Amino acid sequence: MSNDPLTPYGNKPMVTPIVNAVNYHYSSFEVLRQITDGEIDGYTYHRDDNPTVRAVEKKIAALEAAEDCIICTSGMAACTMVYLTYLSAGDHLILFHDIYGAHYKVSLILERLGIDITWVDAGYGSKIAEYIRPNTKMIFCESPSNPLCKVLDISALRKETDKVAAMLVVDNTFATPYHQKPFLLGADIVVHSATKGLGGHNDLMAGAIACSKNHYDKLWFTRQAIGTTLDAYSGSLLERGLKTFELRAEKMSANAMVIAEYLAGHPKVSRVRYPGLKDDPGHSIAVKQMQNGFGGVLAFNVGNSQEDAKKFISELKTIYHAVSLGATESLICIPYLTTLLYMPPERRTVFGVHPNTVRLSAGIEKTDKLLADLEQALEKLKVNPVPKNRICVVPKKPTKKEDDYANIRI
Ligand code: PLP
Repeated sequence: MSNDPLTPYGNKPMVTPIVNAVNYHYSSFEVLRQITDGEIDGYTYHRDDNPTVRAVEKKIAALEAAEDCIICTSGMAACTMVYLTYLSAGDHLILFHDIYGAHYKVSLILERLGIDITWVDAGYGSKIAEYIRPNTKMIFCESPSNPLCKVLDISALRKETDKVAAMLVVDNTFATPYHQKPFLLGADIVVHSATKGLGGHNDLMAGAIACSKNHYDKLWFTRQAIGTTLDAYSGSLLERGLKTFELRAEKMSANAMVIAEYLAGHPKVSRVRYPGLKDDPGHSIAVKQMQNGFGGVLAFNVGNSQEDAKKFISELKTIYHAVSLGATESLICIPYLTTLLYMPPERRTVFGVHPNTVRLSAGIEKTDKLLADLEQALEKLKVNPVPKNRICVVPKKPTKKEDDYANIRI
């Protein structure tokens, strides 16, 4: 009989056990030495490592074709760990306007620490060389981007970062590893809001950083120092989500494709952004660097005003009005009022978002049910046909000081 109470006869549990322990008692000083000298993998304290979480890290590393992965408390914790691990005062960081809004808040902190930041529209991705400087240390991008699903050519970005030995970090949350593997395209580090498609059920918050063994050690140092280690219960939920991840990703992207085509032909909708559409500006690059479809998220403008978009969303019955994405349920929101609220109004619209832009994350519901829901909500909207390139004018509002926006919560 084995000494392990979980596997007395060698039978292993089908699910990684949830180890809630904060600390572990050492079997000897020799074992303590071996652990601290890195000779053996062992657990001592939760802030350092946790066996439930470690099992999930290995699974996400495999999905991303990475050597390793480090999991933490949220997607933004993952991004911030990357910034803190690699950037120092005097370094130059290139960020795209087209990234999740909370980066704006983090950028205010990074600037306070002496990091110089240039914000670029993802539409100018092909001209990135114009923004790179000798002290450029990192380019951080999302492809497809949040919320407009703009596509960046990851291999082309890699060629440019190589010229100044800068790092290329790709947030793969929108694409998911089912549709895109940024490592194979040249990324140094791949981050995820595992809260989204990897977890997939709106019931956990986590971040994941897939990377080489060398980067794992550096990022582990940061996580251990600042204490962003994920709790074991969320780790277990994430492991459970991963079991159905590919099936869900497949269905979400199939739903998103059908919805995008339907909306592109609808008279009350304009500017549908989805990389799977043949006339989408990112389509040709997406075909080159994505597989199995184009992800589950799309963006489009409804009617002529924000009131039109609000009315449309309020009429939906199957699709939930909620932030987040990549979940089993379809979720819809107006980024101007939600995910971009962290930014001053003029910055929310500078890269193509409008007050009536809607982001839709397709879930795994039956496609017909989603189409019927969209159809009935659009039917109730009393607007004349909208020109396909219609731009909704940004309402003039007094601009608050940037610092006020740093305190906004959603
Ligand atoms: N990256 C992307 C693309 C996101 O959409 C989000 C959140 O919506 C994040 C990162 C941040 O993730 P989290 O909410 O888990 O901190």
